[in-house]
Amino acid sequence: MKHRRPFIAGNWKMNGSLSANAALLSELQSGVAGLGKMHCDVAVCVPAPYLGQAQVGLINTVVRWGAQDVSNQTNGAYTGEVSASMLNDFSCFYTIVGHSERRVIHAESDAVVAQKTLRLIDAGIVPIVCVGETLQERKAGQTEQVVVRQLTTVLNAIEKAASDKGMPAKLDGIVIAYEPVWAIGTGITATPEMAQQVHAYLRAQVAAYDQDAAGRVQILYGGSMKPDNAEALLAMKDIDGGLIGGAALKAADFLAIIAAANK
Ligand code: PEP
Repeated sequence: MKHRRPFIAGNWKMNGSLSANAALLSELQSGVAGLGKMHCDVAVCVPAPYLGQAQVGLINTVVRWGAQDVSNQTNGAYTGEVSASMLNDFSCFYTIVGHSERRVIHAESDAVVAQKTLRLIDAGIVPIVCVGETLQERKAGQTEQVVVRQLTTVLNAIEKAASDKGMPAKLDGIVIAYEPVWAIGTGITATPEMAQQVHAYLRAQVAAYDQDAAGRVQILYGGSMKPDNAEALLAMKDIDGGLIGGAALKAADFLAIIAAANK
């Protein structure tokens, strides 16, 4: 039996409108209330302009909210960027960093993802750090090499920042999301066994830094998780939840995945 609390997070990406969000948030809120006692964490990561709406709509519910990205800078002349302290003004609990759409479309490097992670930690926001290989990298047998490079850049940065402050690093203060790029938005899901193998590998990487933190850190799977495959994925030993894209936009689907995690 897993001792880590499951966590289901929705990534709305660049979707929504004030009216559509109002309906989705309200359905989500009443659906989650109908599940009774919650044994899992739930959050939605919404587009930045809708953070205020998510905050007002979800305050005093068990559903948390967050953003999908943050600037790697603290403040200043960075047109279009949103800082961690701004996200804090909306009481964001989580924020995604290193999503493959940011890494690929916006050419974000591992180093930038690590800086963003540190900005969030400094602001008291839990980073959801995404890692994952492309299809080409998987076919070339490079999956482990890619995810370890992406993850250790972040873990090294956390260790160094903590050591510079003379404090112990809190490696379970992040959530890790394994998102094979070839499975995101494609309808193709990694099999539970394929995903489990990478999750165990990621946990072992954390254990090399801190055994106790490795036992506690939540590692989510993302990539076409849907109501019909969620249960099998969530049953795997090292899969602690899901980062859900498309299915998070349909209340019924998202709630079905939450229900699977809440069993
Ligand atoms: C995502 O965008 O993080 C994601 C997992 O998307 P989808 O569930 O649509 O594959």
